[in-house]
Amino acid sequence: MTTSDSTNFDAIIIGAGISGMYQLHQLRKLGMSVQVLEAGSGVGGTWYWNRYPGARFDSESYSYGYSFSEEILDEWQWSEHFSAQPETLRYCNFVADKLDLRRDIRFNSRVDRARWDDAAGQWTVTTEDGLSFTGQYLITAIGPLSVPTWPTIDGIDDFGGQSMHTANWPHEPVSFEGKRVAVIGTGATGVQTIQEVAKTAGQLTVFQRRPNWCAPLKNSPITPQQQTDIRARYPEIFERCRQSHGCFIHDADPRRALGVSEEERLAFYEELYDSPGFGIWMGNFRDIFISEAANKTISDFVADKIRGRVRDQDTAERLIPTDHGFGTRRVPLETHYFEVYNQDNVRLVDLRDTPITRITETGIATSAEHLEFDMIIYATGFDAVTGGFDRIAFEGLEGQTLKQKWADGPETFLGMMVPGFPNMLTLVGPHNAASFCNIPRCIEQNVEWATDFLRHMRDKGLCRLEAQPDAALEWTQHVHESAEKMLYTKVDSWFMGINSNVEGKNKRTFLLYAAGAPDYRAKCDEVAAAGYAGVALQ
Ligand code: NAP
Repeated sequence: MTTSDSTNFDAIIIGAGISGMYQLHQLRKLGMSVQVLEAGSGVGGTWYWNRYPGARFDSESYSYGYSFSEEILDEWQWSEHFSAQPETLRYCNFVADKLDLRRDIRFNSRVDRARWDDAAGQWTVTTEDGLSFTGQYLITAIGPLSVPTWPTIDGIDDFGGQSMHTANWPHEPVSFEGKRVAVIGTGATGVQTIQEVAKTAGQLTVFQRRPNWCAPLKNSPITPQQQTDIRARYPEIFERCRQSHGCFIHDADPRRALGVSEEERLAFYEELYDSPGFGIWMGNFRDIFISEAANKTISDFVADKIRGRVRDQDTAERLIPTDHGFGTRRVPLETHYFEVYNQDNVRLVDLRDTPITRITETGIATSAEHLEFDMIIYATGFDAVTGGFDRIAFEGLEGQTLKQKWADGPETFLGMMVPGFPNMLTLVGPHNAASFCNIPRCIEQNVEWATDFLRHMRDKGLCRLEAQPDAALEWTQHVHESAEKMLYTKVDSWFMGINSNVEGKNKRTFLLYAAGAPDYRAKCDEVAAAGYAGVALQ
């Protein structure tokens, strides 16, 4: 394995975000020739594209960075407990410099096609500008949230002011000073955007279709003393993440919400609400994710917090979800988000009462009125997890496309391989614990597992791997069975592959992995220890 001319490589990696960067580093260590193809003009993936105001971590910064290099850990300092996007993008660039990654990355190269040639035993990968590359292995590092979706609203192209999607934000500074700004969407992105835009906009109008359960982020700067402590505790922090369900520093409390007294329960909720980060979601009572009655206790608690923070009680009620319980969709973390609605320059439009009927040249028309804007911000989310795969024409054995194969929902082995698509490994793919994780932690596991696999192939003189249909069927069943009891499978969200703006994404199919990162890691290790059982090797 060391084929290389200008277009022929041992491996091609699609994407130079957190996973693609680390995979490149690892494959180089195996002595492989690698070409990374990246659509953006720089590294960083999600942190390259999502430059919207207010974008920042919801994971503790020091639990998010790569853990594999002591040198990187020693040389990098996070400035805040939950650092903002510009700092994270600087971090990605720092890592790319440190590991000298850019020489194997071709930027501004969006892949639109990848075709397996079984006779030649290689993938041919084509970019939108017509260039072709061949590689024995194809590794997708395309991210679970990389295809932004715009709403399908009449007149969307007619608007004469500035329109932006949060995931495709301009690289130049955008001023809201004195402007009439509309934000459509109130997911984790919308919430971060709204609380920032409200600071300077002349008028901000929020168009909310369904509210989400938001909880305080409680961000703060990292003091020099905390920095010293974090450095000393890195091994302990990463070990704690390794052991927890979602690789966060927070893990579920073994008690049951209804197994303790009301006094104890409320005291615990107060403590969680007052603590930084995802503790209130990931560190809550275990049963809030499976029992409606347990879930109601935390939902009622958070609803009361919202009522206490928003002055106008009609607005408060509109900001409280009624169609799903706390934590059954991704919990947006916020900083004074609810207080924004107490400002004179902010207004909430509830689309459940007055839906948008069209976008006009000067603004947005709802069933009740026409509102004029200088700028419309679309925080309308992503064609999640499978969207990145749908956008590229992956062609496997006998011309079958991945899009056809996954038309009724993905079928994978370990969320890393697909039968009929030999020599392709999908980092952070569907049914992979990494898509529901403090993502770099699971990315490291995915990349290291893939690297060990390719080392095994090389050492045994093998050149073709293909997941077996029965192994994929069994894994896919396991994915669905382990999620069955979870309340989030009863709710429409991107976890369940629902996106009202994408044709065909209206049937719930679980895209993530519910049994947790430690179980996932154990299954992957079991497969490897059994000589990659479930994968046909030649
Ligand atoms: P999202 O959670 O899917 O939210 C999209 C929002 O747009 C929803 O409020 C949705 O309403 C609304 N929307 C979509 N189409 C609409 C339409 N046609 N008309 C009106 N409203 C419409 O997307 P997101 O907020 O971008 O977040 C996606 C994920 O990115 C998060 O769950 C999280 O995993 C990740 N993220 C992470 C961070 C972080 O770590 N700091 C920050 C931001 C995002 P409905 O709810 O009614 O569909």
